[in-house]
Amino acid sequence: MTKRVALVTGGTGGIGTAICRTLVDAGFRVVAGYNSGGNHDKAKEWQEEQRKDGYEIDVAYGDVTNAESCAACIETVKELTGGSVDVLVNNAGITRDGMFKKMSWEQWNEVLSANLDSMFHMTRLVINPMLEKGFGRIINISSVNAQKGQFGQCNYSAAKAGIHGFTKALAQEVAAKGITVNTVSPGYIMTPMVAKIAEEVQQKICSTIPVGRFGTPEEIARAIAFIADESSSYITGSDLSINGGLHMS
Ligand code: NDP
Repeated sequence: MTKRVALVTGGTGGIGTAICRTLVDAGFRVVAGYNSGGNHDKAKEWQEEQRKDGYEIDVAYGDVTNAESCAACIETVKELTGGSVDVLVNNAGITRDGMFKKMSWEQWNEVLSANLDSMFHMTRLVINPMLEKGFGRIINISSVNAQKGQFGQCNYSAAKAGIHGFTKALAQEVAAKGITVNTVSPGYIMTPMVAKIAEEVQQKICSTIPVGRFGTPEEIARAIAFIADESSSYITGSDLSINGGLHMS
């Protein structure tokens, strides 16, 4: 049987890399979407590093904030794999933190665009082929900060919370056609996104996590592979929280 094709946006990032590798281990043909400000050499270097570790992962350029760029990314996936996307992991995301009273429109808009508009752009391109095929897995990466709100992150909390509404609505529309749509909501995971938080703030956050540590990208990736599996066809419109007990809803 030919392998299912998985596209992971932000696939060369901290959590994205772990997702790509875990999906390869699970038997998927994996393509990592990247942006890197258009630095294609950086993506090729990443691909070479994965190859050295025994992971064959294709890379496809696409700015998730831009509809045309997303369409070009999907075309690249088709050229590379000869097929359409079976599993889409909408993982690309950014933060632009700041107190709301000082937040600029740019800070708001960039975060909404990268974290939420991206869901529209990418999912819109894969949904019809999935409907035709009668199979699909859409897995959207949200955040604990969507569930509880976070000081200094009105933009990010709003964008990530929007993902939950999108997920549940789309899940209902496509449930009868073999397509599941779910969110995974990580807590604090040690990646470049968290590493850029000031050391003393990191320590403060860590002290509030019942498990007593930050999570690892692999702990998120395992959940993605579980949801992506053929046998997870009864899980849809769900959210899987992976946060060390930081928020229990
Ligand atoms: P990273 O910063 O390591 O990765 C983010 C990825 O998103 C990068 O690969 C980046 O690509 C990509 N990206 C950003 N903007 C764009 C764009 N316009 N077009 C295409 N790709 C883009 O962070 P994480 O791995 O930690 O984050 C992954 C996801 O998990 C995000 O959605 C994040 O919000 C979420 N999350 C993370 C948590 C954490 O604690 N780390 C907690 C909760 C949620 P490039 O570098 O090539 O531009």
